[in-house]
Amino acid sequence: MNSRDEQSELHIPADLVQELQAEMDRPLRVMVVCGTQNRTLLKYGLDEVLPDKLDVVSGPGCSVCVMPAGHIDAFIKIGVQPDVVTATCEDLLRVSGSRESLESIKRKGAQVEVVDSPMEALDLARKFPSKIVVFTAVGFEGAAPDVAETILEAASEGVGNFCVIPSIRLLPPSLANLLRDPELNIRGLLFSTHIESITDSNAYSDLARQHHLACAVAGFGTREILRGLISIVRQVKSGTPINENPFAGITPSEETARVQKMLSEVFFAVETDWRGLGSIEGSGFVIRDELSLYDAVKRFNIHFQKGQEQIQCQCAEIISGRSTPNECPAFGISCTSQHPIGPCMVAQEGICASYFRYTFGRI
Ligand code: SF4
Repeated sequence: MNSRDEQSELHIPADLVQELQAEMDRPLRVMVVCGTQNRTLLKYGLDEVLPDKLDVVSGPGCSVCVMPAGHIDAFIKIGVQPDVVTATCEDLLRVSGSRESLESIKRKGAQVEVVDSPMEALDLARKFPSKIVVFTAVGFEGAAPDVAETILEAASEGVGNFCVIPSIRLLPPSLANLLRDPELNIRGLLFSTHIESITDSNAYSDLARQHHLACAVAGFGTREILRGLISIVRQVKSGTPINENPFAGITPSEETARVQKMLSEVFFAVETDWRGLGSIEGSGFVIRDELSLYDAVKRFNIHFQKGQEQIQCQCAEIISGRSTPNECPAFGISCTSQHPIGPCMVAQEGICASYFRYTFGRI
């Protein structure tokens, strides 16, 4: 038994696997939205012991993976401007646009710094007043409050050399888009507790209600994931999914009201392009005109355009649950974690990266 097998033995709760097996009375497809939960499934080999009738597919829950090449191209166009310092998360560095990545322009002399938060980017702006610090705001709606707070702080302090490329996406419209596809036939969604950072749980409960979906929110361990899957299967069997709203009360209401007010002061939702999902109405945030000094897209007069995706990469199909990494001809051959081709192999949350790390060479 190798070390991975030993770890898997320890982490696969046989009682819950049996319980799930016993509940299955029909074929069912469930989307696991979160990249970290997908990683757990693969890391401990849980995917190998799930019931045959349960088809678990990955979803668009990796914010770096769903960025289309055209958005990376916009980051690059701004990043090569004189006196610009691009402040970005590490995951985004190696993701290619049509031709370049932030890492490749950095090698050619552009100033690109890795930061952990928008506030850290604002600190860079305070430290280097002769530069314009541009923060690449990538993430789902849970990331938006920190970005909004930072923009408001910059505005109140009059820090004029700081701005943001808004590339924040809202998950519910993208999931609705997938749920409308009869071929995908997704009956249940498993969310992770990352969802606790959302500010509008109504969007998720409406989604579940409108699509008559079974949903569960679970932690990141194998026990929690299995319990979430069991809950979904039971909801489907009972014919009354969403009889218990898993999203109710995940954010305290006073805090929700404060955050929603702040978000509406800074952003409004518009149609946005997603890798693999196309352009989706109301799925992205842009910065309000009153704060246009802090909007890098307006400040540098850049437009998000359609980019050139890597032809051999199937991230688009993988993000939308239509394919798995090992169906991609490049997986493990020309695309590896050392030499990634697409964002799903680059990002820590990317499903190809998890497949490569935990399943490549499985027999
Ligand atoms: S294995 Fe590589 S090339 Fe294939 S879909 Fe994943 S990231 Fe793209």
